[in-house]
Amino acid sequence: MIPVIALVGRPNVGKSTLFNQLTRSRDALVANFPGLTRDRKYGEARLDDHPYVVIDTGGISGDEHGIDSEMAEQSLMAIEEADAVLFLVDAREGLNAADEALARHLRQRNKSFHLVVNKTDGIDADVAVADFYALGVESMFAIAASHGRGVRSMISEVMAKF
Ligand code: GDP
Ligand code: MG
Repeated sequence: MIPVIALVGRPNVGKSTLFNQLTRSRDALVANFPGLTRDRKYGEARLDDHPYVVIDTGGISGDEHGIDSEMAEQSLMAIEEADAVLFLVDAREGLNAADEALARHLRQRNKSFHLVVNKTDGIDADVAVADFYALGVESMFAIAASHGRGVRSMISEVMAKF
């Protein structure tokens, strides 16, 4: 079984940056993975010799209109397809209502998810994550997707259960 990991969160938190880090822009041959649709962006990634699939999503804020609601719909479908969900938040912006709405949704769907506090480069990671404890998430990582900081150890932990 090849695990599928979805990247979700508000627009601009760094999902595509992390996607590119993990896949180094190799687009997945979706045809090789039955059950996945072509509507979302899939990438093939690898932890040592363990392959996995990453799904990038357009972003979800919980208050969408027009084209944004299509993006949000894609995010919800990616969540359903995923074996694990990486829920990204922005360390520099702190917790907001959209993050809380998405956390509620994930809990309601009974999806295993990990909170990923991104953009911790140049700031104190412990302080940055403290704000997000309020979400009541058990599994939390501090990373800097654009620098690759914390990314490998995060993926190792997420992949350990597959
Ligand atoms: P998405 O909308 O969630 O896909 O976010 P993007 O990946 O497009 O990133 C949004 C912005 O945040 C871009 O300007 C990125 O360069 C920036 N960004 C992403 N990751 C990091 C990070 O780890 N640190 C910093 N400082 N900026 C980041
Ligand atoms: Mg993006």
